[in-house]
This record gives sequence, C-alpha cells and structure tokens, in this order.
Amino acid sequence: MIPTFRFAPSPTGHLHLGHALSALSVWRAAEAAGGRVLLRIEDIDPIRSKPDYAAAIEEDLAWLGLAWDGPVTRQSERMAFYAEALARLDARGLLYDCRLSRADIAAALGENAPRDPDGAPRLPVPGANPSDPAGPAARRLDMARALAALGRAPLTFEEEGEGAVHARPEDWGDVVLARKETPTSYHLAVVVDDAAQGVSHVVRGRDLRRATDVHRLLQELLGLPAPRYRHHWLIPAADGAKLSKSRGAPSLRALRAEGFSRDDVIRALGPL
Ligand code: GLU
Repeated sequence: MIPTFRFAPSPTGHLHLGHALSALSVWRAAEAAGGRVLLRIEDIDPIRSKPDYAAAIEEDLAWLGLAWDGPVTRQSERMAFYAEALARLDARGLLYDCRLSRADIAAALGENAPRDPDGAPRLPVPGANPSDPAGPAARRLDMARALAALGRAPLTFEEEGEGAVHARPEDWGDVVLARKETPTSYHLAVVVDDAAQGVSHVVRGRDLRRATDVHRLLQELLGLPAPRYRHHWLIPAADGAKLSKSRGAPSLRALRAEGFSRDDVIRALGPL
C-alpha cells in the first residue's frame, strides 16, 4: 500500500505562512516516504467556509509548487458518511442532544470551570440538564459512556520520533460530534475521512495534538484504523500565540503581491 498523506485546510480565509509550513511539512514527509498527498477541503462550517477561499487554496498550493494526487475532496459533499458514523454511535447509546450554547455552558459552570484541551468549557455540567432549552440541538458524545464502551485496553497513537504515546480522551468532556448548524463536527469528519481515504500518515500542527486523543477514541469506537501522526512545530505570532489570520499573519497572496517568491517563503521557513 502506498503511504497516503493529506493536507486538509479549512477554506475560512487565505493560506498564510503557518499553512505554508504545514503544507510543506506534509509534502516533504510524503516525498521521504515515497507516498502521495491528497487534498481535502474541510468546508463543514456553512457560515465561515467560502468557495472562493477553496479555489484560492488550490492556486496558492500550485504557487508553492505542491501538486496533490487525484481529485480534491470536499467535506460538504460527504455528509451522508458522517451521518452513518453518527448513527452507529447513537445506536450504542453514546450520544445525547445538547441545546446549550457555549455561553449557557460557561454561565452554568462559572468562571473557573474545567476546560477541554481546546479551551471549551467541559461538559457534562453537574446539576444542569444539557437538553433543557428548546430549539436545535447539537449531538454530544457521552464521554463517560464512550470510555466505558472502550474497555480497559490502553489507547495509544504512534507519534513520529516519539513512538507510542498515550491518548487521554478522559481529559476531554462530552465533545460535540454534530453541531446545531451542520450535522457533523471537525473530530467526526476527520476520523471518517482519514479512514475512507486510506490515510496512513497524518502530518499537522502541534495545536491539534490533543485532538488526537479524541480521534483515537472515535477510531476505536467506529472500528477504523489509526494512521501514524506527526504534529509539527508552529510559527509563533509576536505575542507568542499561534500565528493566525486573526493575529495578523500575512496571506501567501499578500506576500506574492509584495514580490516575494516561492523560494523566499520556503527559505524563510528554514528546516521544517
Ligand atoms: N482543517 C483543519 C485546519 O485547517 C486541519 C485538520 C487536520 O489536519 O486534522 O486546521
């Protein structure tokens, strides 16, 4: 089997230097392994995703000299597969409806509430019924039940350069698997697609390393194979946070417009 890598950007803005680092890391790793790279557009967010950004991603990757294998996959066209995975988890009694907004949850839990590794207030809320208010519901994974369904076998993932790392889904609360406004979530869609596309190697930023805890749990619950992982370093913004559009990272097209070449960008990133 040919080693299969993927680059999976969300089309919610133009690619910037942080994305260039990620994309180059993916393609270099694939080259070293004699593998191929798939391009997957993660456009499940109907409000923030824009077709123009998706088109621009393809242009920017071409400008960087990066060519992907086969047709581009779009998550917005794969909702039926996410629904099927969700139904399997539901049939095992592992999901529940939650109508609370993030603000409701924060208010119910108070300032010092425990948080998930991604910063979201952690559910369940002791003493608050998550299906109280009326209206559209998100579907959450009942983490306590999911861990019980998993049994006692330790959950690990292979991290390049480190070997087997313990996954700690128990550090997460009841994560959202289907949002109110879209019938899936990042965690569910990534796990379903990595398996469906035969992805054997996931190379992505260190900011997503803790998400791998949840991904390994979902892979086990759904009977899906686990890829190998490499979580690469991140470019810090001036204030030490991760470089991002909201932190003023210049887009690759802005750099291009200022006369920087692809080689300038690659040189600026240094050894990956
Ligand atoms: N779509 C995610 C992002 O743009 C990356 C998903 C992944 O690599 O698992 O940050």
